[in-house]
Amino acid sequence: MTIQYWRIRDRYYRLVGSRCSACGAESFPPVYRCKKCGSERMVDKEMPRSGRILTYTQLHEPLPGFEAQAPFYLAVVKLDNGARILTQIVDSPDESVKTGAKVRATVRRAKVDGESGQIVYGFKFIVT
Ligand SMILES: [Zn+2]
Repeated sequence: MTIQYWRIRDRYYRLVGSRCSACGAESFPPVYRCKKCGSERMVDKEMPRSGRILTYTQLHEPLPGFEAQAPFYLAVVKLDNGARILTQIVDSPDESVKTGAKVRATVRRAKVDGESGQIVYGFKFIVT
């Protein structure tokens, strides 16, 4: 699968963060000011789709809009570029979800908006 294919396919769901032109630090979600050096010379940067679980928790109390998915894993994933992302871990056996586990991004249905019935998609991660 080429990079170009991914760019087209994920036009609306790219994992875009920001990169500091001054020091090179990358952040997700995008920021206007670098957390590391304070520069405002930030540019959009597509994030790597793989990383490792830094920490996680299993949520049993459903959040509004996520009732059908409880219980589920919520994790802080450190992407391969060092950026951290708060995300859901899906389709992974319980015993595979642990600190340090390698994960990759996937686009999944995130929730259904109760008012409109609109389905919202977003990034989730799978243990590899
Ligand atoms: Zn910086």
